[in-house]
Amino acid sequence: MPNESVEVTTICRDVSNSQFILQCPIEGHPDSAADVEGSTQRNLPRIKILGTGGTIASKGSDSSQTAGYHVDLTIQDMLESIPDISGICEIEYEQLCNVDSKDIDESLLYKIYKGISDSLQSFDGIVITHGTDTLAETAFFIESTIDSGDVPIVFVGSMRPSTSISADGPMNLYQAICIASSTKSRGRGALVSLNDQISAGYYITKTNANSLDSFNVRQGYLGNFVNNEIHYYYPPVKPQGCHRFKLKVSPTETKFSFPKVCILYAHQAVSSELLDLVSTRYEGIVIATLGAGSLPDEVNAKCLSLNIPIVYSKRSRDGMVPIANLPGCQEEVNYNLIASGYLNPEKSRILLQLCLAGSYSFNEIRHVFSGVYGG
Ligand code: ASP
Repeated sequence: MPNESVEVTTICRDVSNSQFILQCPIEGHPDSAADVEGSTQRNLPRIKILGTGGTIASKGSDSSQTAGYHVDLTIQDMLESIPDISGICEIEYEQLCNVDSKDIDESLLYKIYKGISDSLQSFDGIVITHGTDTLAETAFFIESTIDSGDVPIVFVGSMRPSTSISADGPMNLYQAICIASSTKSRGRGALVSLNDQISAGYYITKTNANSLDSFNVRQGYLGNFVNNEIHYYYPPVKPQGCHRFKLKVSPTETKFSFPKVCILYAHQAVSSELLDLVSTRYEGIVIATLGAGSLPDEVNAKCLSLNIPIVYSKRSRDGMVPIANLPGCQEEVNYNLIASGYLNPEKSRILLQLCLAGSYSFNEIRHVFSGVYGG
């Protein structure tokens, strides 16, 4: 059963229109470009920085250490490591938490959601510093739950701790602030700015556990940061097929939680035993299948026999799982399998949790995933 304190609705519940996405500022919307420029005499954009921790906020014991370091810097410390930005924007900052991103749980995710939502009305751009390990998941969640209108939401992290030789954090943070301050970034939703590249948080994934060039996006980078210039390759656009959910959380609720969804990783000789172990404890399952939805027949049969949604995602980093590769008869009533399309297992998990929190039927869940060409 979905958590009663969380009400998840979609902007447009009509599943045939659920790929609705704001492509341009609504007239009169307080965050629209016209209002930001018209209603204030401010010369500089106002930027809110929300600190959550990660390597960008970490210190090691010597300058060559790039593993085994600890989160130890506040936003204020980090701002001291970058050049004076008082000519670029006005900054306010808030330390939401200071943790390694492995510790970003649902309550912290909600705190980040709330920190961003609460800042949208009064800031022209928002920067979130975050550990890179789960940064892409937070960015996906935020794009799926917040309609930021024109206001850029820029996620940033680093791969080297602040104490290391050639630490990448200060430059990454500086770039993220510039990107959030730029009018060119308006109307682009949740962005990730790392290693000079700008990309959509909805699709980007961490693909290298160590190198500075740690993130990749097969759907393409949106732009580049070079010598204080921001070069977007395309006009403002938000991810096609992003299904936007509206979160309403009871103000009295202190603990935020979502329906439980686990991820199973398939492998040679995988058996349905794995499903037996988890199927009664989770409300939904995502499987990182072998190829584009491939699993042994015995595992498929078990999946079809369970009365919970099971999303077929993939182990392969690239490519997608099409509906055509799902087993069984998709016309059957209560058909519970869903193809993840282009979403990787961890993004599929978040999307399935949001659907379950909104009490979506199997068909509605399928429709949501069809936006990313699964379903
Ligand atoms: N373990 C770190 C984290 O995700 C890694 C990083 O930030 O690069 O918090």
